Amino acid sequence: MGCDAAGVIAAIRSAAAVVDAHRDELVNLDREIGDADHGENLKRGFTAVVSKLDAAGDTPGAVLKVVASTLISTVGGAAGPLYGTAFLRAAAKLGTAVAVTPGSVVDALEAALEGVVARGKAEPGDKTMVDALTPAVAAARAAPGSVADVLRAAADAADQGARDTVPLVARKGRASYLGERSAGHMDPGARSTALLLRAFAEAAS
Ligand code: ADP
Ligand code: MG
Ligand code: MG
Repeated sequence: MGCDAAGVIAAIRSAAAVVDAHRDELVNLDREIGDADHGENLKRGFTAVVSKLDAAGDTPGAVLKVVASTLISTVGGAAGPLYGTAFLRAAAKLGTAVAVTPGSVVDALEAALEGVVARGKAEPGDKTMVDALTPAVAAARAAPGSVADVLRAAADAADQGARDTVPLVARKGRASYLGERSAGHMDPGARSTALLLRAFAEAAS
């Protein structure tokens, strides 16, 4: 993948394909501790995103801005505004640069996390997507190397972070209504965050 707008468009297409392939898995996770729609919400959103990619712009930031606004207007639920904010903050951080670098990818990931936290007020340990994104940012920051290396480190840490949500009791979002009964299940949003980062890492490799 290149690190220009075309490369970012290719990465977003990969992410959409991964969301499609994991739609049922995400629905089933959300059935356990939510309302069984997370996979469908994301699938609807990324399908809409793909339909807009050809005219999305000629910088990585412009492309991510289109992704953000499309997710905000089509995903709904808790995840729509949260992922929308994440992509919007990442887009703003990348600005008008014509290509991403390892350093700007780390900064964009960190801005995405800050946006999710500002919007949803979740802390690490609340059993949300923040539990995947927080270790992902730390690992990305610590990873030397290429854009692919940074994203691979982020994806690996997000996978572990998502697995680590299993024993947690949810304190934010719909799953928190279940109290102690939310323990024993992986958080669907943490899982989808790990899937998206893996798709970006593989697209970049
Ligand atoms: P809804 O719960 O409205 O049906 P989704 O099922 O699409 O929305 O998304 C649920 C996911 O959103 C959860 O698994 C969790 O990761 C994430 N989430 C919910 N509330 C918050 C929050 N306040 N902060 C961060 N993430 C959250
Ligand atoms: Mg749901
Ligand atoms: Mg819902």
